[in-house]
Amino acid sequence: MSFDYDLFVIGGGSGGVRAARVAAATGAKVALAEEYRMGGTCVIRGCVPKKLMVFASEFPNAIEDAQAYGWDVSSGDFDWTDFRTKMHAELDRLEGIYRRLLDGSSVRAYDARATIKDEHTVTLSTGEDITAKHILIAVGGRPVKPELVNVDLGITSNEIFLLEDLPKSILIIGGGYIACEFAGILNGLGVEVTQYYRGAQILRGFDDEARGLIADQMRDKGVNLHCGTNILEMERRDGKIWTKATNGTEATFDQVMFATGRTPNVEGLGLENVGVNVGRLGEIIVDEYNQTNVPSIYAVGDVTDRVQLTPVAIREAMAFVETVFKGNPTPVDHELIPSAVFTQPEYGAVGLTEEQARDQEPIEVYTSSFRPMQTLFAGREDRVLMKLIVSQATRKVLGVHIVAPQAGEMIQMVGIAVKMGATKEDFDRVCAVHPTMAEELVTMKSPTRTA
Ligand code: NDP
Repeated sequence: MSFDYDLFVIGGGSGGVRAARVAAATGAKVALAEEYRMGGTCVIRGCVPKKLMVFASEFPNAIEDAQAYGWDVSSGDFDWTDFRTKMHAELDRLEGIYRRLLDGSSVRAYDARATIKDEHTVTLSTGEDITAKHILIAVGGRPVKPELVNVDLGITSNEIFLLEDLPKSILIIGGGYIACEFAGILNGLGVEVTQYYRGAQILRGFDDEARGLIADQMRDKGVNLHCGTNILEMERRDGKIWTKATNGTEATFDQVMFATGRTPNVEGLGLENVGVNVGRLGEIIVDEYNQTNVPSIYAVGDVTDRVQLTPVAIREAMAFVETVFKGNPTPVDHELIPSAVFTQPEYGAVGLTEEQARDQEPIEVYTSSFRPMQTLFAGREDRVLMKLIVSQATRKVLGVHIVAPQAGEMIQMVGIAVKMGATKEDFDRVCAVHPTMAEELVTMKSPTRTA
């Protein structure tokens, strides 16, 4: 049977574009459909604009610190419209690069929504049917709001990058990556930020000690963070949003943002036409080779809800191409993925938390918490945490947790050692780089505790 294409990719985000390009480089005939903008969540409404906003939000502190270092500077006002225009120009530039990369790889790009008609056919929103030997679903996810009367008064991270004006005050609901990152960003940009998280401590799933330090410092920096609290009611009143919390507090905000998780984008995709298996949240179930139960259909990235991170989607895409187009079956390695949360302070983590590790085996915990030189000199109370979790039996470093400026940069490097299986003694054999914060990682002599 002959097909129009060897591969049809649905979704032009990080995973889909990478798979399409790399598959095309093997000589395969490839097409890709994207209904919105090339680049997906990461480039258009996620990692990239978020990080630009993190940078923008850090200047007021930097200017105060500059004064403490003797500079005669003052901060003035932040022009959101000017910044937003430049930010979107940058996103346009990046989208252009994605398009050119596809063109340059001879991938046929369709600006259309594609739905699955049968095992080898997709239907485009233009009405056209296209056949392919393999179909790759890389449609990502989208934010979800909780069930609540008037919930549409609130926005999600999708809308935050498009705001006409910055609100004077905002209530952020949630305690995950997105909630905590935007609490810091908006606080830095001068918005009065209140955050409600329903659980006992933000950033569930991460190391408890790191979570505690981040929460304390977010509060110190001005975020009005309430744990054990959720939104109960919301109403439009006098042009603002009136809210009532589970603890009875009534408060009014200019804006409410829900950062209450993301869900796979499978609605209306036609999965039921071919019987692709999905999980409880709608996530597409795939095996270690990214293959669904329908042999011609594969899926990568957030739509599979394995690890919702751009570099993971890219690695899944590469493994898919290696398996299907290079005849080299390659499972995806989801072990020891370093990651960073761009909270203020920033958090980098790789491997197990102290809590996970001590449930697994006897461990030693090495910690160093201190006020770093740069901000101490400027009179700030900011604290840094460097933490190693070590197996008593094998001496391997099972987890590293860093709460510090540039923690994301540091954890990328430490991640190499941890992935290689480095022991505590391997860390100790490395000479310190002085004076840095990261030198603590190789100079911690005695465990703070064992468990
Ligand atoms: P998360 O799953 O991390 O957090 C969702 C938060 O919303 C949790 O605190 C959760 O509480 C809370 N929540 C869920 N439902 C409700 C509800 N009905 N009412 C109140 N609170 C609720 O999702 P995010 O949207 O923050 O991020 C999605 C994913 O995107 C992340 O898991 C991450 O993989 C990725 N991401 C990565 C970033 C990075 O690498 N720096 C940055 C941003 C996103 P509870 O804990 O109680 O379930």
